[in-house]
Amino acid sequence: MPQYTPPLRDMQFVLHEVLAATETLQALPAHAEVSRELADQVLEEGGKFCAEVLFPLNRSGDEEGCTFEAGAVRTPKGFREAWQAFKDGGWPTLTAAPEYGGQGLPAVIGMAFQEMMNSANQAWTMYPGLTHGAYECLKAHGTDAQRALYLPRLVSGEWMGTMCLTEPHCGTDLGMLRTKAEPNADGSFAITGTKIFISSGEHDLADNIVHLVLARLPDAPVGTKGISLFVVPKFLPNADGSLGARNGIACGRIEEKMGIHGNATCEMNLVGATGWMVGEPNKGLNAMFVMMNSARIGVGMQSLGLMEVAWQNSLAYAKDRIQARALTGPKAPDKAADPIIVHPDVRRMLLTQKAYVEASRCFAYWLALQADVAEDGTDEEARKAAHDLLALLTPVVKAFITDNAFLTTNLALQVYGGHGYIREWGMEQYVRDARINMIYEGTNTIQSLDLLGRKVLGDNGAKLKKFGALIEAFVEEHGTDEDMAEFVNPLADLGGKVSKLTMELGMKAMGNPDEAGAAAVDYLRVIGHLVMSYFWARMARVALQKQDAGDADPFYRSKLATARFYFAKLQPETAALIRSARAGSKPLMDLEPELF
Ligand SMILES: Cc1cc2nc3c(=O)[nH]c(=O)nc-3n(C[C@H](O)[C@H](O)[C@H](O)COP(=O)(O)OP(=O)(O)OC[C@H]3O[C@@H](n4cnc5c(N)ncnc54)[C@H](O)[C@@H]3O)c2cc1C
Repeated sequence: MPQYTPPLRDMQFVLHEVLAATETLQALPAHAEVSRELADQVLEEGGKFCAEVLFPLNRSGDEEGCTFEAGAVRTPKGFREAWQAFKDGGWPTLTAAPEYGGQGLPAVIGMAFQEMMNSANQAWTMYPGLTHGAYECLKAHGTDAQRALYLPRLVSGEWMGTMCLTEPHCGTDLGMLRTKAEPNADGSFAITGTKIFISSGEHDLADNIVHLVLARLPDAPVGTKGISLFVVPKFLPNADGSLGARNGIACGRIEEKMGIHGNATCEMNLVGATGWMVGEPNKGLNAMFVMMNSARIGVGMQSLGLMEVAWQNSLAYAKDRIQARALTGPKAPDKAADPIIVHPDVRRMLLTQKAYVEASRCFAYWLALQADVAEDGTDEEARKAAHDLLALLTPVVKAFITDNAFLTTNLALQVYGGHGYIREWGMEQYVRDARINMIYEGTNTIQSLDLLGRKVLGDNGAKLKKFGALIEAFVEEHGTDEDMAEFVNPLADLGGKVSKLTMELGMKAMGNPDEAGAAAVDYLRVIGHLVMSYFWARMARVALQKQDAGDADPFYRSKLATARFYFAKLQPETAALIRSARAGSKPLMDLEPELF
């Protein structure tokens, strides 16, 4: 059976030593009171909840799955009790605004908590994850009345939320969606259509489920410019907020699927369901983007959580499992064989996981800090810069971390040999759970098109230059420090290559849009490595500083060794990626479909 220990030391290293998060937060009036002690206390308590309440339900939830009977969904044993404990502990309120009953803590603390929840139990964590997304969307686009009715109940966890976009014939291309919304005389709408794959669409955790549904008005223009957003509660609320009649939205079936068995993936049928418009007519996709962006970062956190827990277990196994002798002679002569961690390739598998998980954590928490500055900053220029960095790197946090999590959970499984493939050890569940994160919230291909097409070429590289400026400043500051050369040089080198590649792709894409489509996935991975290089260089600098100051904590030696591994063994992948990105669209587009 796998184990999970919240990685508090690593989290604190990132938050306090690398990012100096509380200093940034204290400069924001909304978070002036957030101290290091407060952050640590929340994470410690949160970690206990994750390890003691959520983690024990991960395996049983996977084995039992959700059940569907007569329109009702039953979540696995223990899920309801865990939800009650979550509410009792005030956890749903953590980062929500105080005016709606929230504790108003910064996004970066919420992000760290999300990581632990996902390590402990991704399927369970999706229920509150979608609820928080619905809260954010209604907060940004709801009317005063909608906010007053829904937000306090979503924040307390009394009601929960979903996002209903996908239909049987359209997932990526939402412009084709058919669900209809006919105006009623009282200002509400009658909504009819079928949504599929709706996570947490129906369940037994909360009294009411608040669906955010995309649909078309009768006179809507075709395509994405004709989509509106509606709030459609499972039970129609009375004027005082108590539950009234059952609405015309119901679950028709739940999917049998590869992983996340504890989360109900529902077909939702709407038959004249009563809904209320959120935001403006035909601008629904824009409004929904609040929820989608939040969910995209959330999916990155799902994968960060999975990477961490799989890594912890494979490391423990590699130290315990004995098999064969080290190539350089016995390392554990008292035993029949050496622990497998002596073998170079087992180390490659372990260090690959460690390098990706630790830099991804730094990246994700830093991005959450940008979200805090964008939301609560008082300096307009700093807010805009943070907003741009967030927009630029959201597809990277989503796609790069989820791609790597599938890779690293597979490596964790591989460390176990045949035992990794056997259910009892728990590793195969992590691989199965990690796989969906590359697909939903916009497939990773769509993330890469968003990055290269919209975020980079769409504004002539202005946002990318803002990230580049951070790298340049770091290189400038540490470029002459000899001890830092092994980290700064490959970072600067990759930065230069990214600038050249971006210009080249921009020119090619002007002549032929397929050029962007052909290069986008490689390009996102290159940018992902630029991000990893930047954060590994920053972490290495902190570790070197500590060592120079006489701190003998082996923690810092471990950081430096991992940074060296990253630059020696993982970053070089970018050479092949750049070559492949430059190969252009011809090798992909030459062949007619009938000749495939
Ligand atoms: C377990 C699970 C939970 C989900 N939860 C939700 C939910 O809560 N709410 C919700 O609304 N949806 C949800 N989804 C749906 C999910 O978001 C979609 O499956 C996803 O967006 C892809 O859509 P699709 O399945 O229709 O694939 P398609 O859009 O048909 O895509 C098929 C393939 O074509 C590629 N492709 C499509 N268009 C392009 C393009 N322009 N360029 C390059 N490649 C392209 C895709 O990348 C993909 O590889 C969930 C799905 C699953 C499996």
